[in-house]
Amino acid sequence: MDKEYVGFAALPNQLHRKSVKKGFDFTLMVAGESGLGKSTLINSLFLTNLYEDRHLPEASARLTQTLTIERRGVEIEEGGIKVKLTLVDTPGFGDSVDCSDCWLPVVRFIEEQFEQYLRDESGLNRKNIQDSRVHCCLYFISPFGRGLRPLDVAFLRAVHDKVNIIPVIAKADALMPKETQALKQRIRDQLKEEEINIYQFPDCDSDEDEDFKRQDAEMKESIPFAVVGSCEVVRDGGTRPVRGRRYSWGTVEVENPHHCDFLNLRRMLVQTHLQDLKEVTHDILYEGYRASCLQSLARPGARDRASRR
Ligand code: GDP
Repeated sequence: MDKEYVGFAALPNQLHRKSVKKGFDFTLMVAGESGLGKSTLINSLFLTNLYEDRHLPEASARLTQTLTIERRGVEIEEGGIKVKLTLVDTPGFGDSVDCSDCWLPVVRFIEEQFEQYLRDESGLNRKNIQDSRVHCCLYFISPFGRGLRPLDVAFLRAVHDKVNIIPVIAKADALMPKETQALKQRIRDQLKEEEINIYQFPDCDSDEDEDFKRQDAEMKESIPFAVVGSCEVVRDGGTRPVRGRRYSWGTVEVENPHHCDFLNLRRMLVQTHLQDLKEVTHDILYEGYRASCLQSLARPGARDRASRR
């Protein structure tokens, strides 16, 4: 796996405390149709170019292309503490003409990480387990549709009890603010109707300061985050350089909260909720998986039947 070093401006105190002894592993998956800006967003989030060497398949190859899942490592170091961030990309997802079940390999991948962890936990060296479980999945939704498509629903249903899902509206610069709000509401309604569980932000501690509480409330209200990604630094007429997308009519700034929710997403991922995402993965999602494995051991044949369903 390739490694790159990225300096982080503000590694949260919660991580400092908890990972001072052990170091810290975090695995972030991006999923969704190809071309929605997944790699661009990842590069924008972690200020690095992880996809320089990426080879995009020809259109003809995409028709039958099997899903390949790529893992890339970024080592984040701040104040002597290392966070090993693994990014799992699912290129080509939803690309093929026949998309039925094309998401199964992604589901399988998430389950395999649980299986591995369960094996390691039952093994001899259980103190030094490498945690490769997927702690969070950023799911990219097209800004051009009228909400979730059947493929989105099928994928989200298949993984919602295995991974923390954070839905994002991709390429939000394609939408006017009113359209963005309408699409967000539509997606929230659909998630409710389809009974899809996405990551639930924990309640804010009552002793937090007012500023923190306001930011926290704002962040919760902006789900699904409407994001814009760009690897380019734009200088407009001598003003300060910004990460953005330049159009003939003006510039969309990635880190401008009036333009999109990028900052909210980055803040939650790298500053405020990394630890909680790990805890939910371990205490709820992995525990659920472990319990169902134990149950199926108690009832031989049950697991096979469940996996055939
Ligand atoms: P991926 O296949 O999902 O990883 O998508 P890429 O990151 O390769 O992006 C596909 C194309 O969309 C590229 O031409 C990007 O420059 C463009 N793109 C990426 N992010 C955005 C965005 O936020 N807005 C717009 N308008 N285009 C974007």
